[in-house]
Amino acid sequence: MVEEKIGKLKELIRFENAFNHAISLIHWDMETETPYCGIEKAGESLEILVAEMLAKTLNPEVKDILDYLTFEKDNLNDIDRAIVKDMKKNYDKMIKIPKNMVSAYERLKAEAQNAWKQAYDENNFDIFCPYLEKLVDYNIKFVEYRGYKKGIYDTLLDDYEEKMTVEKLDDFFFYLKENLLPIIERAFEKYKNVNTDFLNLNISIEKQKKFSKFILKYINFDFKKGLLKESKHPFTLNFSKNDVRITTHYYKNNFISSLFSTLHECGHGLYEQNIDDKLDKTPIGQGASMGIHESQSRLFENFLGKNYSFWKGLYPFLKERVEEFVDIDFEDFYKAINKPHNSLVRTEADELTYTMHIMIRYELEKLIFEKKIKVSDLPELWKEKTKEYLGIEPENDREGILQDIHWALGLFGYFPSYALGNAYAAQIKSSMEKDFDLENCLFRGDFEKIKKYLSEKIYKYGKLLSPEEIIFNVTGEKLNPAYYVEYLKKKYL
Ligand code: ZN
Repeated sequence: MVEEKIGKLKELIRFENAFNHAISLIHWDMETETPYCGIEKAGESLEILVAEMLAKTLNPEVKDILDYLTFEKDNLNDIDRAIVKDMKKNYDKMIKIPKNMVSAYERLKAEAQNAWKQAYDENNFDIFCPYLEKLVDYNIKFVEYRGYKKGIYDTLLDDYEEKMTVEKLDDFFFYLKENLLPIIERAFEKYKNVNTDFLNLNISIEKQKKFSKFILKYINFDFKKGLLKESKHPFTLNFSKNDVRITTHYYKNNFISSLFSTLHECGHGLYEQNIDDKLDKTPIGQGASMGIHESQSRLFENFLGKNYSFWKGLYPFLKERVEEFVDIDFEDFYKAINKPHNSLVRTEADELTYTMHIMIRYELEKLIFEKKIKVSDLPELWKEKTKEYLGIEPENDREGILQDIHWALGLFGYFPSYALGNAYAAQIKSSMEKDFDLENCLFRGDFEKIKKYLSEKIYKYGKLLSPEEIIFNVTGEKLNPAYYVEYLKKKYL
């Protein structure tokens, strides 16, 4: 009987995978290719596909299978048990929401993405505002249908990081703010004369593209199982561990931006490419949580990607391929890419001030979902918070509220994953240093060793372990932001 039900469940997973493949392909296409006027059709297709998938996956027959297997969980192997647990959790969450709302929401997100792009191009929040209002309304209603014990925002946070709450995050951010502000002040003083002009030299997009590919190969991204394209906002999307797609963006006078975006997405990509074969094409064949996922992207973007030894080894290759750097001394280059500066744009922020960018978004999301402010208040509040946390003020919506695509994608409660990711990454890096000669590996470009280590400790488990178990598995303790503060202190002071 157990075997028969497992067979039925796997059949269902295959169906769901096929639908998710088609749905994700439309999303991939919308981000990279679809012309502005084509989004409406894409949104319609998404609505229909999602409705069809929900009809097949949320019904009494599926409930019976999941209930039966949950009851029999002691008779299942570890992987099947984890799959059943994950699917049951998702079923119990989704069944409470009217199906037609979920599919309509899918269409709304497509339209909202388009509105965001237009608003961004025209530098005008008013174009995006009505869509954002609807997206927020939908999310509040979804949580109300699902029911919640703490708050609406707590429920959204938990979707990206299991067991994460406003209470825990308030403490986490308070600790970081208290400890980072004095470091930021001293580091700004120390680095104030560092020249960064050469980072804004004009470098042809073709050259940047070639170097992005080179650096991906250098750190072992597998092009047989993945590819690199362009999009307005860089992201990673995977259909399976054998088809992992990442994007970056290129600006003629900001080579560094594409470089570190590529490294960031590569961190996500390596994670997905190296999940255990046994978990592939199952609901647990993906990252443990968004916090753990962002730990890998931030690890490659910053902790390894802005590391001294890493660049000492890589810099000759850069000079060879991008001759604009031929006369730039390595030490000057290293200091320039690490210079702390007050940036209005999160993705261009340095390691020290990055957390402040996340705090701005976290506090605004909290206010929205505690229903204390209106969506139309956001641009002004964004300005105020930026002034408060970074001492600078955006002059327009594009460098303020419109800079991130996340809300247009319906990602509310996602931003804290980046800050958690930084803290996880610092802790993971500290363990790597204890377990092998990381600096030497970075200097020699031995990313095979690094990949093996991360695969063994993190990647291979996919969602088989919880974020808490993963971090304990690597470091022997639970999340501890003190590592992050220590890392920044050591690096900058
Ligand atoms: Zn990321």
